[in-house]
Order: sequence, then C-alpha cells, then structure tokens
Amino acid sequence: MPLFQRGVVLPFQKGKALERGIESLDVTGVRLPLAAGDMDSPISHLAADTPVACGQELCRMDDTPVVSTVSGTLEGTVAIHHPLYGSLLCADIRADGDAEDRLPVLPEDELTADVILQIARDAAIYDELDGIPLWEKLQQWRLPENDLTALHSVLVADATENDIFGSSAWAVVMEQPKLAFFGLQMAARATRFSRYHIATMLPKRRRRTLKHAIGRMNVYTVGDEYPVTLFADRDDEVYRIGIQACLALGRALKQGLRHTAAIVTVAGDALPAPRNLRVPFGTEIGALLTACQAKSGHQIILGDSMVGVTCSDPHTPLLPGITTVLAMLPRPVRVPGPCIGCGRCAAVCPAGLLPYEIVRRSENMHYERLQHLSPGDCDGCAACSYICPAGRDVAAEVLKAGQTKGTVFLNWGEDDYE
Ligand code: SF4
Ligand code: SF4
Repeated sequence: MPLFQRGVVLPFQKGKALERGIESLDVTGVRLPLAAGDMDSPISHLAADTPVACGQELCRMDDTPVVSTVSGTLEGTVAIHHPLYGSLLCADIRADGDAEDRLPVLPEDELTADVILQIARDAAIYDELDGIPLWEKLQQWRLPENDLTALHSVLVADATENDIFGSSAWAVVMEQPKLAFFGLQMAARATRFSRYHIATMLPKRRRRTLKHAIGRMNVYTVGDEYPVTLFADRDDEVYRIGIQACLALGRALKQGLRHTAAIVTVAGDALPAPRNLRVPFGTEIGALLTACQAKSGHQIILGDSMVGVTCSDPHTPLLPGITTVLAMLPRPVRVPGPCIGCGRCAAVCPAGLLPYEIVRRSENMHYERLQHLSPGDCDGCAACSYICPAGRDVAAEVLKAGQTKGTVFLNWGEDDYE
C-alpha cells in the first residue's frame, strides 16, 4: 500500500506507457483562436489565400502573439464554441507548405530575466497545465532582485502525469530531459527563484536515467497518490509549470522555435492502443481519434479522467491546456444517493476541507457559516467525488459553494444601493 496522507490511489491503467514514445501526426489544416467572444477579426488586413509560415505571427491576443502552427494558406475566419474556452473567433489555415519563421537565438550570458520573459512571449509559449501564457505566469511570480523569499520559492516542472491514462509528460521528460531542464532553469532565472526541480513519478530505472541526464538533486520523486505533492517542505512556496512549457522555452531559447505543437496522449477504452502524438495546436480532436482508430459511438473527454470535460463536436480544435484526449465507450450513469456521513471525502481532501459539511451548509442555505469552511480553497481535484460511496459529485458542489464565497445573502440587496 503506497504511503499518502491525503488523496486517493487511482488504479494503474497506463500499461506499457513507459515504452510509449512520441509520434508526429501530419495534419491537413488547423483552426487557431484569434480573439475571444464576438470581436471583429484582428486579421482582416490579411486576405484569404494569403500564404503563412509555421511560427509566423498573425495577430496578438491579450498581448501574446497568435502564431500559425503550420505552414500553409489562410482560408478565412470562423466563430466557434469551445468546451474549455467558450466563444472564439478562429482562423482556418490549410497545411500545404514548409516555410518556417524562427526567433533569433542569443548566447546564454545575454539571457537576462527580462529577455527570457520577452522570448517566452514572442515564442507564444503556453503552460499545458492551465492554458495560460507562460510569460504571464512567470511575470506574476517574479521576485525583486535580492529578495530573500527566493530561498523558499521553488519552481517545479510538473512531469508527474498521475492521471490513470496520461503519459505525454513522461514521454517528454524521457525524450528531451536536458532541453526541458534548461527551459526550467531559464524560467527560474526569469522569476529569480533560487530553487527548481522536475517532479516525476517514473519507476526507479527510468528515474536513474533522468537523474543521470540532469543531476540527482534536480529530480523530485512523487508517489502514486492523486493529487500529487510536488514538494515535501511545508515552509516552501511551490510554483508549478508544465514540463511541456519548459521544453518549449528551452527550444525557443536554444533553437529559436515558437510553441506550435502539443504532445497529447490519446487513450480510453474506445481505442485499440493509447498513443502519444505531437500535433500542431488547432488540429481537430476528431483527427487525433481517427488516427488512433477510435471505435464509433465513443464519448470524447478533453483533459484527464478525473477533471476532464466532455466534448460533443469532433471538429473542436486542440488548444493549449489539453494534454490528454480520451475516447470512452458509453457506460451506465450512476444515480447519486443521499450522503451517508461516512467522512471519506474529508479524509482524502488534499486541501484539508470538510466537503460533506460544505455541501450540507450550501444545500441548507447556511451561507453565513460557509465562509468558515473555506470552500474557496478547493482546487477541483475531484478526489472527493471519486471516493464518495454514494456517487455524489461532491467536488462540483464544493466548487459551486466556493464561487458564492459564502456571501450570497450579503450580495442580495446590493443592487438597491446602485
Ligand atoms: S475537489 Fe476540492 S473538496 Fe474535493 S477533494 Fe479536491 S480540494 Fe477537496
Ligand atoms: S464521501 Fe460522500 S457519502 Fe461520505 S460523507 Fe462525503 S459526501 Fe457523504
């Protein structure tokens, strides 16, 4: 029995995940977001049939460049609804060329904190953990020079991949450990943190290979609990970025390459075998599933099995923040029963919350007492829903309660004073 204090142990379903390399998928075109909502097209200056190079900047979205992820021909724009990002105006680009646009490469001693942030922005690097531009996160965390809190600030490249299906992070860290670690070092330089490491849950032999490649002290091993603990010392402040974002930063700094592709695990019981695919951002999810010979009648889930969202449209584009695509066969829907007060949700909650109590207070509209139970500390890991013997979606209820912040009654009547 593995050791864990909070969280759940998921059944291991990765099979031969460790031998699974990364295969590149050729695509016929991509659909790239240009703007959120129903804004006017920011690329109206570009006529249809304009040739674009892979990595070419098309426009800016919230100060981050939108770059073409293939070389080809601009076909036009289209409005879509994305299950993770809502309404988007997208550009359709046909992949029919081989032109590439790269950034200049600077010597390492010229890579100051400011320069690294600028290159992370110009390279359009997104963190796969949450789909947020990497430069934005690093800039937000950045410490002033000579700040002593740097000693207790740890930047962690998360290569744990502790969902039962995913294996893309393992594949990345095994394929290009030195370049990914260089990216992590540079991200730490940009934030001025003095400590950083790659967190992984690889088995012993692979871990040894990784330690040999990047140094023993730079690898932190986690157990197989879900969700994982990325650092043991409670006095430290841990900041987490994805291993793919680190690799993208390493590639941008060393090779001048922009972040144009994701490495995605395509898995689930509707596929004959899981695969890790390197695919340009904007590729249709359906193209991934077709390449992996998914059986018909499956349900698509974007993200991992614990917190992923369902997707009904196979034309949905693959965007930053998605590293697992699941094709699952239909299964009986469980009818949730009443809470039996077993307390298991509280026992597994890594945030130390009392989920059943939060749900009870929320259902009974005891909002004034909800605040003391800190539902806002819930990070939506879903361990409580997984463990609940009554089949209740406890996590969804806790998240809903967290959004009210226990101030529902206080907010009522505010309109009267406007
Ligand atoms: S989803 Fe929230 S309440 Fe449930 S176990 Fe995770 S952190 Fe705790
Ligand atoms: S695990 Fe489910 S049944 Fe048990 S206390 Fe929590 S909500 Fe109630």
